[in-house]
Amino acid sequence: MMDPLWLLILLPVAALSGWVAATVSRFQWRSRNRVPKAYMQGINYLLNEQRENALDNFYESFDADNENYDLLFPIGNLYRQKGEIGKATRIHQLLVERTDLTGEQRSEAFYELGFDYYSAGILDKAEQVFKELLQNPRFREKSHNLLREIYEQEREWDQCISITKKLNRFSSEDYLPVLAQYYCELAEEAIRTGNYNKAEDYVQTALDTEIDCVRAILQSGRIRAIRGEHQSAIEIWKTIETINPKYISETAGLVLESYKALNQSHKAADFLKKVAETEQNSQFAIIYVDILQSLNREQEAEKFLLNWIRKHKSFDCLNRLVLLKLKSSTSIKRSDIELIEEMIINQTNPTRHYKCQRCGYDVKVLHWQCPSCRVWDQFEIQQSLQHSLVD
Ligand SMILES: [Zn+2]
Repeated sequence: MMDPLWLLILLPVAALSGWVAATVSRFQWRSRNRVPKAYMQGINYLLNEQRENALDNFYESFDADNENYDLLFPIGNLYRQKGEIGKATRIHQLLVERTDLTGEQRSEAFYELGFDYYSAGILDKAEQVFKELLQNPRFREKSHNLLREIYEQEREWDQCISITKKLNRFSSEDYLPVLAQYYCELAEEAIRTGNYNKAEDYVQTALDTEIDCVRAILQSGRIRAIRGEHQSAIEIWKTIETINPKYISETAGLVLESYKALNQSHKAADFLKKVAETEQNSQFAIIYVDILQSLNREQEAEKFLLNWIRKHKSFDCLNRLVLLKLKSSTSIKRSDIELIEEMIINQTNPTRHYKCQRCGYDVKVLHWQCPSCRVWDQFEIQQSLQHSLVD
């Protein structure tokens, strides 16, 4: 719906005066009383593009019995947008209580009142409102979605699942990937409390809901690894490479630990090398070098680092090469080696971070739900170029 007040602000003054005249005329025609002085002052402020003063004057002239519903409504919404939830709630509450509105108008006011509560974080009241609007065709999808978001904030995953299943039945959007995330949340809680059988059931349900759910695949491998079934865990994690390669780096640490548990670090080295080359990621190249070093394959590590530096101009890998050479040096004093090592480590910042593809929010650790826009499964690994020699 186009807000009349926004129209009022955006229109050129010539067109504006016509709209205002019509609005005031209708107001006068409908109202049994005279037009309030504050209301007229609000119109003047609008004509002079003094939006803040205009809004306050409209609020002062606000009268619950005022029949000018079309104008009162956007004023309430504008107050909510400005963060003045108390004023927005008062307007919407009084509109809901009026007996002269049509059913449609009352439902709209009721929905906006629910949104006021939601914006103010009064989630129990917002929940009551949206529950009452679930069957209203105009607000059905919005109410289902807002209830879903309320239950997410309350971490009521069973409620999230219930409302999202209903939503998915009639919405044109596909909510199955989100539904799978809720099962993963339940699986995570079960893993935390040591209830691995239950966790496995939730993971399976997540995969039945969304067969390519990477989070569920990661969890499935974790449960196997916790049980000591490392080979099986590794095989599960490696499937991510074909299902969704952008998450392959998330499996690197897990695969490494399981190979270590199996005393097969050489296989971990092969896997890390592949991840580093696929992802063109210097951090994984360094982990690969660490493994080679732990296997006493220093010469191979040195050769790999040199090739990597030539190809990617990575400053982090250059630092790693210096550290490797220092370790084998016999001409530099031990105390000097330690000093140089400390200096190199201190000036090397982690370059791995994740960015939400929806809103651009940047984090150091992978989140399954964006803390900013609250959309699920939107983070992608980013590589900072701040340590590249070509900068
Ligand atoms: Zn986001």
